[in-house]
Amino acid sequence: MAKVLVLGGGFGGVVAAERLAEQLGDEHQITLVSRSRQFVFYPALVKLAFGKAETADVSFDLRQTMLNRRVNFIEAEVAYIDPFDRTITIAHGQVEGKLPYDYLVFALGRRLATERIIGFYEHAHHLLNVGKAINFGQAVKNLHTGRAVFGQCAGARLPVPVYESASALARRLEEKGERERVRITVVSPTTLDLDLGDATAAAAIEKALDTYQIEFLPNLRIESLTENLAITSGDAIKFDLLMLVPPFRGSSAASHLGITDEEGYINVDSAMRVAGEERIYAVGDCTNFDGPKMGHMAVRQAEVAAANLAAEIEGRAPVARYQHELRFVIDELGADSLYLRKDLSTDEPATVRQGRFWSWAKHVHKKYWEVSHS
Ligand SMILES: Cc1cc2nc3c(=O)[nH]c(=O)nc-3n(C[C@H](O)[C@H](O)[C@H](O)COP(=O)(O)OP(=O)(O)OC[C@H]3O[C@@H](n4cnc5c(N)ncnc54)[C@H](O)[C@@H]3O)c2cc1C
Repeated sequence: MAKVLVLGGGFGGVVAAERLAEQLGDEHQITLVSRSRQFVFYPALVKLAFGKAETADVSFDLRQTMLNRRVNFIEAEVAYIDPFDRTITIAHGQVEGKLPYDYLVFALGRRLATERIIGFYEHAHHLLNVGKAINFGQAVKNLHTGRAVFGQCAGARLPVPVYESASALARRLEEKGERERVRITVVSPTTLDLDLGDATAAAAIEKALDTYQIEFLPNLRIESLTENLAITSGDAIKFDLLMLVPPFRGSSAASHLGITDEEGYINVDSAMRVAGEERIYAVGDCTNFDGPKMGHMAVRQAEVAAANLAAEIEGRAPVARYQHELRFVIDELGADSLYLRKDLSTDEPATVRQGRFWSWAKHVHKKYWEVSHS
């Protein structure tokens, strides 16, 4: 019998645990540990902020869902991992102490390094959890005039909600007859091409931003914030509302293990095994891959890790390889909503499509996830 611990109840951890339960016999024990029993469907947080979804639509209780799939669930904070002892130390939860494992799947996501931008905590909105998305939504409701600024900090690696929330605001103001009173700006630490990973997608988004009269300012690295100013190395941008994606770093639970790059992301091979470690796999935002950090990557990586871990437990060679691919939908752009798919391991151009259909497809994908996990 093998004891498998899956750490983290996001897209990566949930899919890894589910697939392991499907592929391993009943004699093996699978346990998912996460700091909250709520699974959050992050791609719907822009809709939550703009009042087009309720909290109950964007989250569900993991405990029962996992039990239905033969996975034990422990709500606790992972404080320390000891690969020599093969134990993890858990705290602040329903149980505290050490949990032994034979195999580990690390899926603890990324850390928000807000401390790297002076004044971020006090002066910026973000929408990287349910509470913050609701606060941002309230600030949107109170904005009737002035300037709204949206953007990513250097190292943020999450462009989709920036473009979605800027266009959602433009549409909301249009509906209220207040569009002319608010200037909307998107800032990026790079260019639109680099932000979206593809020139064709960048040209399409540039056109859509023009349609919505949203200005785009490239190559601006925000370094600090005051109550109304976003300060870059050579400039300061005044704002009345600011939504910024903070810098990302790898999970601090991996930082002492010597398995990460300098930003804390875990090095893995194409089988999703942690480089230089035995019996440990890693999936999702915590891993070291180029480009944006996306949910569909976490899901695919989790499928690969589960297939290979099941094979390892049964004494077989790895059976699956992860191919790094970028795929997203930028919703909230009406007929200009955009779908992009790009193989990041080649120089092939991306597949880019536009139309209202993609907005609908994103919604249906969320519904499918909800129905198949509740
Ligand atoms: C607003 C927003 C919009 C997005 N839109 C899209 C989109 O349109 N398409 C797309 O593909 N992706 C999108 N993403 C990105 C996507 O949500 C992430 O890539 C995905 O959630 C990563 O999954 P993960 O399992 O690696 O990490 P996470 O989902 O972050 O899960 C990590 C889990 O680990 C838990 N955890 C962390 N540390 C500890 C600890 N020490 N102890 C115990 N538990 C811990 C967390 O509570 C969480 O449950 C969006 C993200 C946001 C925030």
